[in-house]
Amino acid sequence: MYYFSTNKRSPHVGFAQAVLNGQPADRGLYFPSQIPHISRNLATGLKKLSNAEIAFEVIRPYVNGDIADDDLLEICAETVDLEIPLITIDEKITALELFHGPTLAFKDIGARFMSRCLGRVSRRQSRKTIVIAATSGDTGGAVAAGFHNVDGVEVIILYPKGRVSRIQELQLTTLGGNVTTLELHGTFDDCQAIAKPLLADDTLSTQVHLTSANSINVARWLPQQFYYFFAVKMSEDKDPTICVPSGNFGNLAAGILAERAGLRIGHFIAASNANDVVPRWFESGQYQPRDTIETLSNAMDVAAPSNFVRILEMFGGDRKELKKIVSADRVSDEETAATMIEVYERTGYVLDPHGAVAYKALNDSGRKGIILETAHPCKFDSVGEILGVEPDVPVSVRDLGSNKKVSIEVPNDHHLVREIVMQKI
Ligand SMILES: *Cc1c(COP(=O)(O)O)cnc(C)c1O
Repeated sequence: MYYFSTNKRSPHVGFAQAVLNGQPADRGLYFPSQIPHISRNLATGLKKLSNAEIAFEVIRPYVNGDIADDDLLEICAETVDLEIPLITIDEKITALELFHGPTLAFKDIGARFMSRCLGRVSRRQSRKTIVIAATSGDTGGAVAAGFHNVDGVEVIILYPKGRVSRIQELQLTTLGGNVTTLELHGTFDDCQAIAKPLLADDTLSTQVHLTSANSINVARWLPQQFYYFFAVKMSEDKDPTICVPSGNFGNLAAGILAERAGLRIGHFIAASNANDVVPRWFESGQYQPRDTIETLSNAMDVAAPSNFVRILEMFGGDRKELKKIVSADRVSDEETAATMIEVYERTGYVLDPHGAVAYKALNDSGRKGIILETAHPCKFDSVGEILGVEPDVPVSVRDLGSNKKVSIEVPNDHHLVREIVMQKI
């Protein structure tokens, strides 16, 4: 097992190196040289295994010995140490709730796994690892929480002062320890404009390994297979349909990988919002990204989804083959809001806007199945506005309010932020 670049112009690497590199130099994405068939244990004994055991069996061949088994089992146990319930919404649709992690979104799972892998493999290097992440609120929070207290890694988070929600700010600024949070006087774009050159800073990188730990890292992508196994384990249906609210298409790509490896999933539905480059490709075969459109399901506002190449890779680009197990649909903001209201009034279940996109697409397909509920509704102000009632806030998040805020206010100044990075070396 090795990893090649989907652009085919970068050298093959092992798992550890792929985790350290994040992205190959040719700007492709790493992809495993083979899709290992799932073990007998997973194929026939799924219902008897714990979530930690399932995670370990699924990921082991991909890690291919680069992390020792007992270490890997520990990482898996920590990664899935959260509630992942399958909740019945109505007779036809259940929701796999992936939002019970520290930042209330499914990205917690991949971020936790990656942070621990990166911690393990970077300790073997002579250079220290520093993760630099600019965030508009959400993804950075999952990365920061994932890396919190991970040995051998320092984390620097940049967020735009006054431009993230109260809950997001609490999640970003109350960690402390190895996480340094910079509250920048500027916009998210300013944060990115500072982070990007730092990541490419040749002088710094002779002394320290700098990484963005971004979402295309194989150690964030591959563990997203886990919860498809959990869904099948809990489902009464032998080969359920699973509907995935999609933006960058990492989540769906991981589900398809699990299916290719032998997990019994009957069908996938890729649910997009108005950013519908993939549904249009399904219809026409033309891949034509347009400008990003802002929607209610804003974590899916992606014009050119990077993980789509991983999906194409699994089908040799053959649209006909792909369509045998995947269909695609788009859902407008009006439909999203109407779905949230209809489902709430009929069943009492509060969908977040991303889950609502999935619900609508699955419902319209006429199939029974499972939606992935990717974020807690309390994270979005729109939910209260649309439903006229405020969603419950989990105790874990309410308690954050009593923690001390530790962040450093910084002006929009590249040199100053670089100084702060230098101090961490
Ligand atoms: C990131 C995200 C998505 C989209 O997942 P992809 O893997 O990028 O397709 C959906 N919902 C929420 C809440 C997200 O944060």
